[in-house]
Amino acid sequence: MAESSKRILILASKLGYQTRSFAEAARRLGVEVVFGTDRCHQLDDPWADRAIPLHFEQPEQAARDLLARLAVDRPDAFLALGDRPTVTAAFAARSFGLTYNSPESVLACRSKLRQREVFRDAGLSAPDFFSFALDEPLGAVISRVKFPCVVKPLSLAASQGVIRADNVAEFTAAVARISALLESPAVQVTREPGLDRLLVEGYIPGREVAVEGLLDRGRLRVLAIFDKPDPLEGPYFEESIYVTPSRLSEKQQASIVDCLGRSVRALGLEHGPLHAEFRINEAGPWVLEVQPRPIGGLCARALRFSPEKIYLEELLVRHALGLPGSDLSREPEASGVMMIPVPKSGVLEGVEGLEAARATPHVTDIQITARLHDPIVAWPEGSSYLGFIFARTEQPEEVETALRAAHARLHLQITPRLPVSHPVTGKVPAAS
Ligand code: ADP
Ligand code: CA
Repeated sequence: MAESSKRILILASKLGYQTRSFAEAARRLGVEVVFGTDRCHQLDDPWADRAIPLHFEQPEQAARDLLARLAVDRPDAFLALGDRPTVTAAFAARSFGLTYNSPESVLACRSKLRQREVFRDAGLSAPDFFSFALDEPLGAVISRVKFPCVVKPLSLAASQGVIRADNVAEFTAAVARISALLESPAVQVTREPGLDRLLVEGYIPGREVAVEGLLDRGRLRVLAIFDKPDPLEGPYFEESIYVTPSRLSEKQQASIVDCLGRSVRALGLEHGPLHAEFRINEAGPWVLEVQPRPIGGLCARALRFSPEKIYLEELLVRHALGLPGSDLSREPEASGVMMIPVPKSGVLEGVEGLEAARATPHVTDIQITARLHDPIVAWPEGSSYLGFIFARTEQPEEVETALRAAHARLHLQITPRLPVSHPVTGKVPAAS
């Protein structure tokens, strides 16, 4: 390797396929990869050994640990994948003198409540909201709720624990269900702050889009606007299809980009990848969420940049390291990805029809990321998709049709999990 070889630090909670995909992009560029993670006890992947163990829930300490471990082999840049490592990344950037977002701006994104407060104070169109502690008497809480509403945890991601409620009975059931999820060992182990509170928001009807962006010292670049063509009306909000370019009008797209710009300034974010979600209706765009990290899972593979045909992962590695080529534009073709939904909780025993699904015209790849014989969990308790279907062709309509056709050819064998305890809470449901 050339002596000018660079080193990138990848901070991630999960050392799974997404992390691997970024690491591979870096190594293709001849860049050395160092991992920092809080999941070292789960290191079943030999490719990620020598990862630096960190506690992302203590970000300042984690940043000091990084400084101590990498005092000599200093990183030239880093990427935070997923929400959890972003605060550690912000403190570490300060210590290493690297360009990134301030800890304050990133902290405002780590709590859905804090982010709502920032948007409200900046006068942005965002849902009305209030939060309550789970030990408050529910009667008093219910008197404040305007229906329809969405109830959600303060710090989870991937729509985990996000539930729409249209009346008091649904609200009460939703609160019980999210409380049980938050008390589960799988969530408690994260030690996220705010696991004892819930956020209640007004339900915003409309079409939803996701925006992938890149900030460069305060300058915002929109890399793609994805339509989400499936109706996301609840009660749960598992993602499915993303297709770009958006079929919204130029004017609507411009209003979303403008709303993103104002949201980013309100939060004080300045540098690095962005993933944001909006709804749009007669009243214009509404910001749902802005996060200082790239799109999750393998979805980055849906974004390819011309003329070199590099994927988002490589573009972001180049940007982080200041290498040439991070200013490429997305290719002219339409592209899309389906996050394969989890139809019911259980054990994934088999996937049939994969060859036929892969042979669907315009489908470029299908990756099943759930492991056979492992438990899978449906939303709202779940947070992992079964896999990803990718399609690419001229028109976004054709991409959407291809994704649906491929999905229809996949047959998933899911058997109930024994003993019949709840997959996340471990509680055995009462006999009905
Ligand atoms: P997460 O960070 O877990 O993805 P979000 O707050 O982004 O949680 O909510 C997940 C999804 O739930 C959104 O993409 C959207 O479809 C739906 N949703 C959340 N809040 C609202 C709201 N106030 N009105 C309408 N839909 C919402
Ligand atoms: Ca979201």
